[in-house]
Amino acid sequence: MQLGEIATAVTAQNDTTAWHDIEVSSVAFDSRQVTNGALFVPLEGERDGHEFIQSAKQNGAVAALWKADHGAVPSDFPVLVVDDPLTALQALSKHYLLKINPKVVAITGSNGKTTTKDMVAAVLSTQFNVTKTTDNFNNEIGVPVTILAMEPNTEVLVVELGMDRPGQLDFLSKLVSPDLAIITMIGEAHIEFFGTRDKIADAKMEITHGLKADGTFIFDGDEPLLTERAKAVTQRQVTFGRQATDDVYATNVVATDTHTQFSTNQWPDQTVTVPMIGDYNINNALAALSVAKLYRITPNVAVDAFKSLDLTKNRAEWIQGKAGERILSDVYNSNPTAVKEVMAAFSKVATEGKRRVVLGDMLELGAQSDALHAGLQTAFDSALVQDVYLVGPHMAALYDVLQADYQPDALHLYNVDQQGKLITDLQSVLTATDTLLIKGSHGIHLENVLAALQK
Ligand code: ATP
Ligand code: MG
Repeated sequence: MQLGEIATAVTAQNDTTAWHDIEVSSVAFDSRQVTNGALFVPLEGERDGHEFIQSAKQNGAVAALWKADHGAVPSDFPVLVVDDPLTALQALSKHYLLKINPKVVAITGSNGKTTTKDMVAAVLSTQFNVTKTTDNFNNEIGVPVTILAMEPNTEVLVVELGMDRPGQLDFLSKLVSPDLAIITMIGEAHIEFFGTRDKIADAKMEITHGLKADGTFIFDGDEPLLTERAKAVTQRQVTFGRQATDDVYATNVVATDTHTQFSTNQWPDQTVTVPMIGDYNINNALAALSVAKLYRITPNVAVDAFKSLDLTKNRAEWIQGKAGERILSDVYNSNPTAVKEVMAAFSKVATEGKRRVVLGDMLELGAQSDALHAGLQTAFDSALVQDVYLVGPHMAALYDVLQADYQPDALHLYNVDQQGKLITDLQSVLTATDTLLIKGSHGIHLENVLAALQK
C-alpha cells in the first residue's frame, strides 16, 4: 500500500500529502523486527514504542504512526498522527482485509486453537493460497499483524483468536468477519477471570458475533454448553465430535505413541492419520475435516494433507533424553483438560521401564485452583504412571490427594525455584527404558528441565 491509502485508512490528523506515494511493504510494532519498507507502529506496553522510532528508521522503516498527545511529532521522518496507534493498526488491518477480501476461517477454544489452525491451513493449502497465524499471534495486536502479513494473492485467511476476558472475541470476530467460525472445545483455561465454564462458553460464543450471515458455525457437538448456546445462532451449523449425533464424527480410532488414526462418517473409506499423540487431536482434525468438506476439498487430498502438517512448535512432541529415555514434552501451556488429555495418552504409551511424570502448576485458575489441581487425581493410575514429580505451590493440593495412591518414594513435590534439585533427582533415576512426560504452564518454565535432560 502507499502511505496515502494508509493515511486515509487510519484517519491521519496531520497533513501527509507530501508522503502519499511512499510504498509500504510491511508493518511492525517491534523496532527489531522492522525490515526495509516497513510502517512502524509504536505501541505502549512495558516500554513505550515511541522511544524506538530512531531504531525502526535505522532498520529500514519508511514511516511511522504517532500518538497525537505524545509530545513533539518527529519532523525528520514521515509520521501519521493518530489518536491511538493500536486502534489505527486495527483499522488499517480491517481496510487491508476488505481490500484483499479472502475467505476467513477463525478459530477459538480453550485448547487446540493452534493445532486446529495448522490442520485447517494444511487441508486448505491443497487447493487455495492460504495465510495463517504464525506463532501464537491471537490477540488485539497479533490478529491485525496476521492480517497485514497476508500476501495480496491470499484466498483464505486462517486465523487463531485468543480470549482471556469477555468482549475480546466480540471485538476480534467483528474485526475479521469470519466465513467459518470454529470453537474447538470449552475447558477451564482462564477460569480465574470467568468463575464458571458457563461464562467461558458465553465468552467463546462471541466468535459468532462477526460471523457472516451466510457463514457457518463449526463446534464441538459433544459439549452441551455449546449445543445449548448454538440454538441462538442463526447461521448454518456443523458439529464435530465423537458421537453419532455429530455431523462429522470419528470411527475406528487407533492410537499409537506417535500417531492417531481414525475414519469419519463423512468419508468412511478414508483413513486419517494424524502424526501426533493424543485422542484430543482427533477432535482438532475433525474440525479441519469439517472445513475441508465445506470447501469441497477432495477427500483423499484432504486426508493426505495430514501427512505433511506444518505444525507450530511446542505442542506435545517426543524428544530423546540423555539417558536414552523418551521424553514427551508439552511444556508450553497447561490447564486441567489438557493435562487429563495428555495423561490419558501418555498412560498408554509403550514402555519397558517406568512411566514418569513431571507436572508443573496450572496457572490462572483463581479460587478454584486447589480443587482443579486436586481434581487431576483421576488422571493418575499408579500401575500405569509409576513416578510423579510435581512442581509449584498449587501442585501441593494434588500431592496431598495422590498420597493415597503413591508410596512416598514415588511422589515428589518441588518449589518452582528447586528446578536444579528436580533435574538432579531425575537424572539419578532415569534409564534408557523409561518414558517421561513434562507438562506445565509456561510461567513455571519447565523448558529448563527439558533442556537439562535433552540429549
Ligand atoms: P494457547 O491458548 O496457548 O494458544 P491453543 O488453544 O492454541 O493454546 P494448542 O497449542 O493447539 O492450543 O495445544 C496446546 C495443548 O492443549 C496441547 O499440547 C494439548 O495438551 C492440549 N490440547 C490440544 N487440543 C486439545 C483438545 N481439542 N482438547 C483438549 N486438549 C487439547
Ligand atoms: Mg495457541
